[in-house]
Amino acid sequence: MAKTKYVYFFGNGDAEGDETMRPLLGGKGANLAQMAKAPLSLPVPPGFTISIDVCQEYYKLGKKYPAGLDAEVEKYLAKLEKAMGKKLGDEKDPLLVSVRSGAAESMPGMMDTILNLGLNDKSVEGLAKKTNNPRFAWDAYRRFIQMYGNVAMGVDHDKFEEIISEVKSHRGIKEDTELTAEELQEIVSKYKVMYKKEKGEAFPQDPKKQMWGAIGAVFGSWMNERAIVYRKLNNIDERVIKGTAVTVMAMVFGNMGDTSGTGVAFSRDPSTGENHFMAEYLINAQGEDVVAGIRTPMDISALEKQQPKIFAEITKIRNRLEKHYHDMQDMEFTVQEGKLYMLQCRNGKRTGPAAVKMAVDMVKEKLITKETALTRVKPDQLDQLLHPQFEAKALKAATPLAEALNASPGAGAGQIVFTAEEAVEWHKSGKKVMLVRKETSPDDIAGMYVAEGILTSTGGRTSHAAVVARGMGTPCVCGCAAVVFSGKDEVTIGNKVFKKGDTISIDGSTGKVYAGLIPVTPPSVSGDFETFLSWADEVRAKSVRKTPSGKVVKGFNVLANAEQNEAPQAFRFGAAGIGLCRTEHMFFDEPKLTSFQKMIISDSTEERKKNLDKILPLQQKDFFGIIKTMEGRAVTIRLLDPPLNEFIQAKTDAEAQSLAKKLDVDVAVIKAKFADLDEHNPMLGHRGCRLAITYPEIYEMQVEAIALATAEAEKKGIKHDVRIMIPNVTTVNELKQIREQAEAVIAKVNKDKGTKLKFQIGSMIEFPRAAATADQIAEYADFFSFGTNDLTQTTFGFSRDDYSKFIDSYLDQKVLLQDPFKTLDEDGVGVMIGLAEEKGRAVKSDLHLGICGEHGGDPASIELCYKLGLNYVSCSPFRVPAARLAGAQAVIKANAKPAAKKAPAKKATAKKATAKKATAKKEVKASAKKATAKKAVKAPAKKATAKKATAKKTTKK
Ligand code: PEP
Ligand code: MG
Repeated sequence: MAKTKYVYFFGNGDAEGDETMRPLLGGKGANLAQMAKAPLSLPVPPGFTISIDVCQEYYKLGKKYPAGLDAEVEKYLAKLEKAMGKKLGDEKDPLLVSVRSGAAESMPGMMDTILNLGLNDKSVEGLAKKTNNPRFAWDAYRRFIQMYGNVAMGVDHDKFEEIISEVKSHRGIKEDTELTAEELQEIVSKYKVMYKKEKGEAFPQDPKKQMWGAIGAVFGSWMNERAIVYRKLNNIDERVIKGTAVTVMAMVFGNMGDTSGTGVAFSRDPSTGENHFMAEYLINAQGEDVVAGIRTPMDISALEKQQPKIFAEITKIRNRLEKHYHDMQDMEFTVQEGKLYMLQCRNGKRTGPAAVKMAVDMVKEKLITKETALTRVKPDQLDQLLHPQFEAKALKAATPLAEALNASPGAGAGQIVFTAEEAVEWHKSGKKVMLVRKETSPDDIAGMYVAEGILTSTGGRTSHAAVVARGMGTPCVCGCAAVVFSGKDEVTIGNKVFKKGDTISIDGSTGKVYAGLIPVTPPSVSGDFETFLSWADEVRAKSVRKTPSGKVVKGFNVLANAEQNEAPQAFRFGAAGIGLCRTEHMFFDEPKLTSFQKMIISDSTEERKKNLDKILPLQQKDFFGIIKTMEGRAVTIRLLDPPLNEFIQAKTDAEAQSLAKKLDVDVAVIKAKFADLDEHNPMLGHRGCRLAITYPEIYEMQVEAIALATAEAEKKGIKHDVRIMIPNVTTVNELKQIREQAEAVIAKVNKDKGTKLKFQIGSMIEFPRAAATADQIAEYADFFSFGTNDLTQTTFGFSRDDYSKFIDSYLDQKVLLQDPFKTLDEDGVGVMIGLAEEKGRAVKSDLHLGICGEHGGDPASIELCYKLGLNYVSCSPFRVPAARLAGAQAVIKANAKPAAKKAPAKKATAKKATAKKATAKKEVKASAKKATAKKAVKAPAKKATAKKATAKKTTKK
C-alpha cells in the first residue's frame, strides 16, 4: 500500500500544494502554497503544512500521531532548514519558526498559533549577536515563552502580564516598545522562574521538543471551547470541516526596529464593502499585537508616507490577489527591515451590507457573474441589512460622547456590562446589554454574541472584537481612547461616568458613542440591496425543474405571512404576495373581539349570526386594506383556524368575572362555556374547518367580507388577486361542503354588487391523511398550501406547543439531527409533501403548490421546497429578503449539479438515497442553534400568540 503523505512543502518559488487543496491543507496552508508558486510567486517565507488528515488521526488515536509522521516532519524540517540556510535551535544563527493553525473554513482567532519557536537560553544569545540587535532577540524570546507557556502549556496569560506590568511600572514606562534589552532579559528570567513554579519543570530548551509541543497544542486547539462554540454559532459542520492543519513556517520579524512592522489588510472594506484598500499597520511589532488589539495600529496611509516602496508593493499584491481569487482578500504581512513577506491570504469575512455591496460591485467590475454574486452572501447575513437604524430625529438631537473606529455597522443600545459572563447572564434575564471592554479575546465569544453592541477602548478594525462582531453582525465601535475604566464596574466615556447597568448607544456605522437609549427605526430594501435581490428574483423567475414525480415546474416565488399591519412591510421587502393571512389575528382587535366572544357564547344560530354581522364590516375593512396595499399581488386569506377556547380565557375566577362583566352575562355562563370548550388536546380538537362543519355561519361571514372587500376594490379600480384558503382539511368532504357554501355566498355578493368575481379556493395540507388523499382533495382545490407547522406536528406526533421540553435532549444525543419545527424533515414531512405533490398534480397537472409554515423562511427548507416542485414559499415579512436569496441559491445549486445527480425520476420515497446526505449537512445547524436557543426561531406558539411569536422571530436579538 502506498504510504500516506502527511506533509506538504512550500517555498523557494514552488509548492507541493495549491488552493484547490483546502480540505487537506486548510485555507492557510493551501493559500500559502498557492501564493508561493507561479503564477502568483509572491514573497512567502518557506515552510511545510501537516495535513488535516493528521488532525483526524490524532483524535482517532487518542491524541497520538499516525506512524511515520515524525520521520516525515523531520525530513521536511531538514528541507526548510536547507531553504533558509539555518538550523532550528542553532546556537549561533538559529532558524525560528511559527506554528500555525488553519482549518478548511477560516475561524479567525479561535485556534492557536505559536511564534518565535526555536529560541532557548543559548540561541537567544546567537540571535542577538547575529542580528546585532539584542533588544529584538530578547523581545522574541520573552514573547515565545509567554505564548508557548500559555498556549501549549496552559500557564495563565495574566501571570505573564503581571511580570511585564511590574517591570514597566518599576521603570515608569507605559509601552512594551519602551522596554530595553536588559529589561526584556530580566522579564525572561522572571518568566522562567514563574514557569517552573507553575509547571514543576524548567521551560523546555530543546527546540524539537518545543516544536512537537506546539504542533500538539495547535491540533489540540481544534477542540478547545471557543473553537467548538465558534463552529456551532457559524454552522460549521465537523463532518465537512474535519479539523485543522498545522503549518510550520520560517519566522520573519516585524519587531526588528522602525523599518519593520506587521500589517493586516483587507482588499476592500469588510465593514462597508467599499472598494478601497483597508489596512492597518504596526511599526516594530509582531502579528499578534494587531490581532489581539493590544496596541491600536495606524492606517496604511501612514505606511505610504513612511515606506512608499512597501506600500506600492502591498497595493500591487492586493490587486493581484483579488483578480486571482475573484473575491475580497484578508491578508497578513510582515515587513522585516524593509522587505515585505506575505504570511497569509484568505477570502475575508465581511458584514452583510459589505457582502452585498462587494457582490454587486464585483459584477459591475466583471470580476464575477450575477450567479456567483448570489452565492457570495449567506441568506442569514441579510438580517444585518434589516437591522434597525437610529431614528434620524433622535440621532440628530443626541450629542456623541466619543467617536472611534466604526468596526461593525448597525445601531445598538443597551445596558453596560463589563464581562462576557455578565452579558450572557443579563441577556438570559431579558436585558439588552452593551459589552464595554478594554479589548475582547476569543473567550468572550458567548457574551459578544448576545450583546446589542460592543465597545472597546483599544484595538483596531482588525482586532478580535472587530472581526468577530462583523461575523456576527453585531454593531461594534473599537479603539475608543475616550473609554477609560475608572473603577470597579465603572467606566468614563468622554467626560461622563457610567456604572454597570447604565445605558449607552453606539453606531457601528459611524463609530459614535452616545449616552442613553436612542430609539430605532425599521429598515428598508434599497440601492445595492435592491439590485442584488432583483437578481435573485430573476434567477427564480427563470428557473425550470422537474419534480421528483416528473412534472415540469417553472418559477419559484416568495410570499409573506402577513395581516393588515404587516402587509406594508411585506410589500417593502419585495414579497410577491401574501401566502397566509391568518384571519384570527384580526379578531383580537376590539371591538371585533367582544363581538366574537359574544358569538362564541351564543346558544342559537340566530344569535351567532347577529354577532358575526357586527364583525363583517370590520373584517371587510381589514381585507380591503390588505388588497389595496398589495397592489394586485396575490392575497391568500385563510378562514378561521384556532380552537374557540383561545378566545375565552376564564381559567381563574377573576378572569371569568372580568369576561362576564365585559360581555354583560352571568359569570356562570362564562364558566359553563369555558368548561364546554375545554379540550384535552385543542390542537387536534375542534378547530379549523371542523368549526365550519358545526358552525357554517362563521366561514360564511368571512367569505362574504372577502367578497365584499374585493367588490369594493373592483369598483374603485384597485387591482386584486384574492384567494381563499381552508385550514385543517383531513377529508375531501370537508372541503367539498365548505367550497359549495363559499361559492353560494360569492354568487350572492356578485348578484348584489353586479360583479363577476371569481376566487381560487384552496386547501391547506397539514395532516398525513390530507397528503395521502391529495388526489381526492385536488378535485375541489385550486391550490395547496402546506401548513408545515401542523404537518410536522402530526407527522412526528410531537406537540408543537410542548416539544421544547425534550428537543434539546434529542439534539444533544443526536437522536434527531435537527429541530424539525425549524428545518423541514426531509425523510418524513418531505415525503408527505412529495406524496401530495404527486397525487395532487396527477389530478390537476398545474396545481399551484406552496408552503406557509415557519419553514418557509429557513434556507435549507426552501431548498427542499424547490426540489419538491413547490411554486412558492411564504414566510414572515422580515424573512422575505433572505428567502428571496435562499430560493435563488437553491436554483443555482440545482442547476450546477450534473444531470445524473438530479432528483430521481420516481416518487417521493426515492429521495431516501439523497436524504442522508442532506440531513447530515443539517445536523450541526440544528445543534448549533441550541447555543443560541434564546434567539433561535422557536416552533410557532399557540395560535392566539402566534402573531407575537412570528414578530419576535424576525429579529436576531
Ligand atoms: C401551519 O400549520 O403550518 C400553519 C401555517 O398554520 P398555523 O401555524 O397557523 O397552524
Ligand atoms: Mg396550521
